[in-house]
Amino acid sequence: MATQWHELGNGNFALTGGSNIGVIVREGRAVIVDAGLDKDAAKKALRAAEGTGAKVAALVITHGHADHFGGAGWLAQQAGIPVYAPPLEAVFAVQPLLEPLFLYSGAAPITELQGKFTLARQGVKSITPLETGPQEIAGIPLDIIPLPGHAPQQIGVGAGDTCYCGDGVFPDETLERHPILFCADMDAWLATLERFSTLHYTWYVPGHGEPLQDIASLAERNAARLREIRTWVWESLTTPQEAHDVLHDVAARYGVTFAAPQFFLLALTTIHAALTSLQIAGEAAVEIAENRMMWRRV
Ligand SMILES: [Zn+2]
Repeated sequence: MATQWHELGNGNFALTGGSNIGVIVREGRAVIVDAGLDKDAAKKALRAAEGTGAKVAALVITHGHADHFGGAGWLAQQAGIPVYAPPLEAVFAVQPLLEPLFLYSGAAPITELQGKFTLARQGVKSITPLETGPQEIAGIPLDIIPLPGHAPQQIGVGAGDTCYCGDGVFPDETLERHPILFCADMDAWLATLERFSTLHYTWYVPGHGEPLQDIASLAERNAARLREIRTWVWESLTTPQEAHDVLHDVAARYGVTFAAPQFFLLALTTIHAALTSLQIAGEAAVEIAENRMMWRRV
């Protein structure tokens, strides 16, 4: 995918295309936000960051998905820099096999989950756990913003007037192309999306797509999609169903045809997240009936 270098002003930059990478430059030092899918993506980011005249001093990973940290192992080694990530997300970047493992219920993953979108080619040797809140990283003042939902401990990085959102919010193209957004925790993500309207940055850089200024309406379109998925999951339970059948129904609503098992499994996680949300709200319950794990309305 073609990459594009954006100068957002005040020392904030973004390299977009595929998975976006942020570059924050202050007084000759740079912090990179996310490392892209692989070594090639990370190499472009390193070159672009150094092109500003700054010395790259640290890497922050917003969440433990391979398309965002796949290049991190190489980047950390090449630039000799420390890597920071929220504790739960860091585990995935240190042990890349965990992502395909969890997508496959903890079992040795099928071949289809071993592509570099779900299995990074190189892990990061060591990561410093990142707490949320204002702090300095490599001497640069940043605000680490909790944006849980898409991933359990997803964070965003606030730098001056720019917020690097990771996958805390998806652009309209993604809503269009992947209607069943990958979601780990539906309630947490809905709360996160509501919080976007209380942030006051000039620029927002989502993990995919172009930088934008009006985040509140995009966040609302993401929230509307999640609420719609949740409703359609509930509607699918007119008769008790297994999660796989619920996914089949919801995919039909969106006219989605899964091209391969990995896409089915990614969407299944979102269905599980919706079912958990319904269980917590007392709207659905799960039970074993004739050795099937059946979900029903309450
Ligand atoms: Zn992600």
